[in-house]
Formats: sequence, C-alpha cells, structure tokens
Amino acid sequence: MADIVIPADLLPTDGRFGCGPSKIRGAQLESLVTRGATILGTSHRQKPVKDLVGSVRQGIADLFQVPDGYEVVLGNGGSTAFWDAAAFGLIERRAENLSFGEFGSKFAKAAAAPWLEAPHVVEAPGGSLAALEPVEGVDVYAYPHNETSTGVMAPVVRADGDPGALTVVDATSAAGGAAFDVEATDVYYFAPQKNFASDGGLWLALFSPAAIERVERIAASDRYIPEFLSLQNAVDNSRLNQTLNTPALATLLLLDDQVRWINESGGIAWADARTKQSSGTVYDWAASVDFATPFVSEPSHRSQVVATIDLDDAVDAKAVAVTLRANGIVDTEPYRKLGRNQLRIATFTAIEPGDVAQLTKAIEYVVGELPR
Ligand SMILES: *Cc1c(COP(=O)(O)O)cnc(C)c1O
Repeated sequence: MADIVIPADLLPTDGRFGCGPSKIRGAQLESLVTRGATILGTSHRQKPVKDLVGSVRQGIADLFQVPDGYEVVLGNGGSTAFWDAAAFGLIERRAENLSFGEFGSKFAKAAAAPWLEAPHVVEAPGGSLAALEPVEGVDVYAYPHNETSTGVMAPVVRADGDPGALTVVDATSAAGGAAFDVEATDVYYFAPQKNFASDGGLWLALFSPAAIERVERIAASDRYIPEFLSLQNAVDNSRLNQTLNTPALATLLLLDDQVRWINESGGIAWADARTKQSSGTVYDWAASVDFATPFVSEPSHRSQVVATIDLDDAVDAKAVAVTLRANGIVDTEPYRKLGRNQLRIATFTAIEPGDVAQLTKAIEYVVGELPR
C-alpha cells in the first residue's frame, strides 16, 4: 500500500491536515525569520517582546471584537495548564462539565480537585453532543466549543444557572476559525497551535468582567494556589504585556502573524466562511461516495474545523492514512483513543479550501487502488 503513488494532479499544494500542531503558512515562517531576527534570543522583559505580546493581545481583541471590560489574558502551559489553573482560581465550589469526548472529559477530571465539590458531569457518547443542564450550586459551566477528538461542535450559549455562574468555553480548536457571541461567555480560552497556526505552549483567554472578579475573589481567599497556576498572576502580568515566566517567543511571533493575516483578510466572519466551505467540501464528498459517512450523525453538530469521516468496513482507514502519509499528506489518522475506522481532517483557517478539495480526490484515488 505504501507504494501507491498518488498522481500529482490530485495532490494538495500543502499536505498538512492535522488537528494540532497544524499547518503553519509559509509566509508566517518567513516572517518568523525576518521579524524574529531582532526578537528571538532577546530578553522577554524588554520592550520589543512586550510590544509583541501587546500586539497579540490587541490583535485578538480586534479579531473577536471583545466587548468593553473583557480582557485578553495569557499564560504559559497550553490549554491543559489552563484546566488546572481554573480548578485553582476560577471554580469557587463546583463545576458542571460537558463531556462528549477526550478534551471535555479532561477538564472534568481537573475539576474533580480535592478542595472542590465533585463536578456535575454530563456525558454523551463520542460523536454526539451533551447539553447544559442548570444545577443549583454550580458556579462554573464548562464545555468545549469544538470537541477535537470527535469532530462535534457545540453552540456557544450562556448557561442558565445560578446568578453569577460563569460560562467557560474550551475553544482550543475553534478559536480563530468559527464565529460566536463573545458575550455568551465569561472565559473563552484556547491554545495557538490549531486555527492560529502557531506552536504550542501558551494559553490565551477572553475574560469577562465577572470572570476577572471571580479570579480576584478566589485569589484573596485563603485557598492555596501555586504561583504558576495563579490566574490572578496571569491577569496582572497580561495587563503589563508579559507572562509570569519566559514564554516561547517563536510561538508568539507565529501567532501574531496569523492573527494579523486573519484580521486583514476579513476577520472572524471571513475565517468562519472559509472553514465552513472547507468542511462542507469534505461532508458533501462523503455523501457522494459509497464508502464514507460522517461520524457525527446529526448534521448541525458536525464541526466546521475538524471533519471526522468513517469509512466502510471494507476499506482500511489506517491503510488509507498510511498511504496518504507516504505521499506527503499527513495526520489524517483519527483521534487515537476513539479507535474507529476513520479519517479526521482539520479544516482550520490556514488550510486552503482548494487543498481540501484536492485531498478528497487523493483519498478517492487511494481507496480505488487499495484491495477491497
Ligand atoms: C488540542 C486541544 C487541547 C489541548 O491543548 P494543549 O495546548 O496541548 O494543552 C485542549 N482542548 C481542545 C478542545 C483541544 O483541541
């Protein structure tokens, strides 16, 4: 199977379709070299790096047109670190966690910290969507905007809970690729290695005034909070355009470039239309062939940024992914723990819609060449 050669006219110009780290555009890498020449290898406490952090914060505020009082906060450690930071500094007593895939379930685990009441976890099987349910005493309602492990997308809506309850959205794989209502959220957090086409290691978040107030109140309480995971520290440092400890400067440079590119191209509405076009190409194609079916059966739950496509049992999806990889088309394997005969295709903002169309042709070619 590895010796199947996909004809050149069926290949995408760029073969990166992984869900993170994901495609970084060539222009970003060029800018990393030119702009990086004066920034990489210099102190993160000096003006050039602070200006870079400031530019990232402003660019993100512009991109999401954040309402008055919302702040762009960032810290080190990626979205996984944010879950622990939230357990220490955002959840007052008890969280509700929607768990319909790997990432939602990981936050639920972090929210099961010994100093908190056990979270109210609403589970739904992979490929479907769990729904918010108001529960008395819950002060953080948490769910992923896009469940990257299954390709299910949730509507961004405010939880109808107790007064003062916060709505906290894991937007790691949605942010920068999908439009949503910022005011429906108190914390909309993400990492830059997906639609923002950067490297990992950072978390960024839009905080509402209510979320900032919550952080301040918990920080002033007698709860023990490690320095590194302190959201108060993150808020204070972000206001100064810095992080508690050294950030990855290359990650910031690539991110800043991508945010600027999206803003200059037409902002979040443009990115939203582009990822819808790309994912629509994949779903339409799956409907047009007899060996592929979208994993997410409810069309309105299908993700616009991560398309999961089950293949017929007669077609070995693993062999398809291996063959694609041998031809330079990488990372179409499904989320490992899902264990399905599936291809998972990112349709992030950086990925050219034309390349997604080429990918479907390449897959069809490979399936035609494989023994059935
Ligand atoms: C990738 C991803 C994460 C993990 O991000 P890290 O920066 O690696 O911690 C969390 N949530 C979602 C929805 C993701 O797609």
